[in-house]
Amino acid sequence: MARPLHFVLVPLLAQGHVIPVLDLARLIAGRAGARATVVLTPVTAARSRAVLDHALREGLAVDHVELPFPGPALGLPERCESHDMVREMSHFTLFYEAVWLLAGPLEAYLRALPRRPDCLVADTCNPWTADVARRLDIPRFVFHGPSAFFLLAQRSLATHGVHDDSAAGDFEPFEVPEFPVRVVTNKATSLGFFHFPGLEKQRRETLDAEATADGFVFNTCAAFESAYIKGYGEALGRKVWAVGPLCLLDTDAETTAGRGNCAAVDAGLVVSWLDGRPHQSVLYVSFGSMARLFPPQVAELAAGLESSNRPFIWVTKETDDLDAGFDGRVEGRGLVIRGWAPQMTILSHPAVGGFLTHCGWNSTLESISHGVPLLTWPHFADQFLNETLVVDVLGAGVRVGVKVPAMHVFLNPEAHAKQVGRDDVKRALTELMDEGSGIRARAKELATMAREAMAEGGSADRDLAGMARHVGELAQRKEQGVPELGSEKQINGWPRQTSRGSIAS
Ligand code: UDP
Repeated sequence: MARPLHFVLVPLLAQGHVIPVLDLARLIAGRAGARATVVLTPVTAARSRAVLDHALREGLAVDHVELPFPGPALGLPERCESHDMVREMSHFTLFYEAVWLLAGPLEAYLRALPRRPDCLVADTCNPWTADVARRLDIPRFVFHGPSAFFLLAQRSLATHGVHDDSAAGDFEPFEVPEFPVRVVTNKATSLGFFHFPGLEKQRRETLDAEATADGFVFNTCAAFESAYIKGYGEALGRKVWAVGPLCLLDTDAETTAGRGNCAAVDAGLVVSWLDGRPHQSVLYVSFGSMARLFPPQVAELAAGLESSNRPFIWVTKETDDLDAGFDGRVEGRGLVIRGWAPQMTILSHPAVGGFLTHCGWNSTLESISHGVPLLTWPHFADQFLNETLVVDVLGAGVRVGVKVPAMHVFLNPEAHAKQVGRDDVKRALTELMDEGSGIRARAKELATMAREAMAEGGSADRDLAGMARHVGELAQRKEQGVPELGSEKQINGWPRQTSRGSIAS
């Protein structure tokens, strides 16, 4: 086919979902020679500026479209357009209602294009795209941001009807049925996305939209997740492609520092600070874009880090309460970043020797890809099963010892209390940083495998080519057999395309 393929990518509006989708857009444009358009909103587009500008500088056919976010009409605060900005339980359902309302503007945008895109790649949390794709006769792939390990376990638990109404408080251990490796979990810590009261519709529709997808794209690495990727494809009877770890895509220092948002600190100063520390001596502490520690936990973590006498970088949310004297007491040894940190810049620095993480899949992949072993402190959703994968299966981490899920705005009262004491922090740190040579060696092995997968000719590269080939074949068949769809009436009044391919509403 002479013309380049056009992919339209629809991430969930959350930093941990937008970041890998932007990388995927660059990968599709760079390696598959296609055009990729990412569907964003004004706030998420502004946060994506560094990567979008980089793609432009690279000469890649990556553009974006900004759809106005209908949150304020439903009662959400202005500019509350990303999951991390939702701070009240009642706002969660509103947020997802608003996300679901993007179906109309997306459809209008797609209809107004001079020709239909060849493929829609939509985050699994955007099942509302299924009807849009069906109405417009566009093949639709589901993009999976979490680990295949977690996703296959979720499939198994759903098939066996494990999660009932009382699941959130049930800590009785059981084995995940029909799973490639033996995994012991419990209902409370194996709940997935949309497994919360008020989001039942979203959960049901997500499962339905997965069942009708034309294929699945995973941000993971076949070298360490092949059994689960394969199992998932077989369970759904669909094609699966593992195109990650997407964080390993080449980029420059400025873009790396600006992934996901503008950093709250000068990345150059952080690098200079790290330059002055011994090899693999620094612990990096961050809980991703959403998870928050409750005040008693903040105090225990602070005390553990302070008494450890080790260098560390701690990323705290603006709202985290640290006692006033903490920064002064750890001066010279500890760097506290309040707000968005240049995480990939930090993890790729040779002075970093461990990552105390909430086990979000992006953070996990970013750490593994740089050979940095993990100290695991999961909070919710996929994070506990990611911890199991990292510690028990891959052998690249040490548990801090969290047992109860904790969302930042609701859930178990127990989770709001102290779960990890200062001594637990010190113990886990010693286990990882002093005694963890085997774990460190394993992390480095995994990093090598990840890099090989992402190199030209590696498994991710082959899967990406296979995915593009599949879309090309679908497009060709359509061109040969089905009348061109451009004859339908265009809808006016929807976002206009600017010269950069982005949109002014
Ligand atoms: N991130 C970052 N700086 C921060 C916090 C997070 O760059 O201060 C990035 C991190 O590198 C990762 C993403 O945001 O790419 C978070 O995704 P993850 O899946 O780890 O966790 P989530 O935020 O979705 O819980």
